Amino acid sequence: AALALGLAACGGSGAGGGDAAPTKQAAPADLTIGVAMPTQTSERWIADGKAVKEKLEAKGYKVDLQYAGDDIPTQSQQVDQMITRGADVLIIAAIDGTALSSQLQAAADAKIPVIAYDRLIRGSANVDFYDTFDNYAVGVAQGKALLTGLGLLKKDGSKGTAKGPFNIELFAGSLDDNNARYFFNGAMDTLKPYLDSKQLVVKSKQTAIEQTATLRWAQETAQKRMEDLLTKAYSDGTHVDGVLSPYDGISRGIITAVQNAGYGTKGIARPIVTGQDAEIASVKLINTGVQSSTVFKDTRLLADQAVIAAEAFLKKTTPEANDTKTYDNGVKVVPAYLLPVKTVYKEDIKSVLIDSGYYTAKEVATGQ
Ligand code: BGC
Repeated sequence: AALALGLAACGGSGAGGGDAAPTKQAAPADLTIGVAMPTQTSERWIADGKAVKEKLEAKGYKVDLQYAGDDIPTQSQQVDQMITRGADVLIIAAIDGTALSSQLQAAADAKIPVIAYDRLIRGSANVDFYDTFDNYAVGVAQGKALLTGLGLLKKDGSKGTAKGPFNIELFAGSLDDNNARYFFNGAMDTLKPYLDSKQLVVKSKQTAIEQTATLRWAQETAQKRMEDLLTKAYSDGTHVDGVLSPYDGISRGIITAVQNAGYGTKGIARPIVTGQDAEIASVKLINTGVQSSTVFKDTRLLADQAVIAAEAFLKKTTPEANDTKTYDNGVKVVPAYLLPVKTVYKEDIKSVLIDSGYYTAKEVATGQ
């Protein structure tokens, strides 16, 4: 790690000040960026890892990219190894936001800056920057997408023609991921007036995040919970009209459960199901009217921001934040750069996902 970090003192780190002082700066080829990603079971993390690696390599840096198979000890070990192998910056998308404190202490001792990627790392002072999307806005978008799908809202945000009441169920993400609460809170703040007025009814009565959480965001866990909900709350023939889902993998688990229960056949309307990440398998389902929407997060842009932040640290400067208030990790408020998100319904697939080169029309049609 060929790096001395002057975090607080911009231009005052003793290296002569200013961004451009090349004197002590190692050549990119001598610098390694460790990139720790959670899992390859979800497409978005594969895309994130690939984009970050390619963009850093294009600038000449060495990249140590590791996936942890959603296993916390594996990720801790991978980060430890990155540090012993001499990483100069770490970019980490944590599995469990609280499980990396000792690794981050080792990074701080070795003066290695740490960038939390997409998910905030909690309980440590040694998180130097946070690149992410506006996570509360993701939840708001999901809440609005549920209301829009049900016809209570129009896409432009004005009042829809439907009145309800509609039966809905709620799903949240993995509680060890700091993002899960932001998504859920954003959605619930948006749905609350409709729940209060009984235009929306959660028939199972499971409305707390602890009751609705999905460990590790697992599709099978979501499918199982949806099956249980259908058995317990809907076996009298009541129709479930909508399901709030925070992530496309969870959405597909929910969709499998309702399909197995006969929804989508014999005139039984499918519930409106939301999502996140614009995974190709879900985009295909949106295109064919099976899933209602997803929230698209352009991982290419997040990768760009991670590269910008890593380079700033390598140049001994501080990356530019656009949010310095929101992300309190329990020890400090971590300066963050938040990217915007976009809701995608069927009619937006072409303009948002295909025209931007994120997917080809063929990928959308085949789901692969
Ligand atoms: C990410 C989401 C993703 C979820 C499951 C969250 O931390 O922000 O984009 O859907 O993890 O992988």
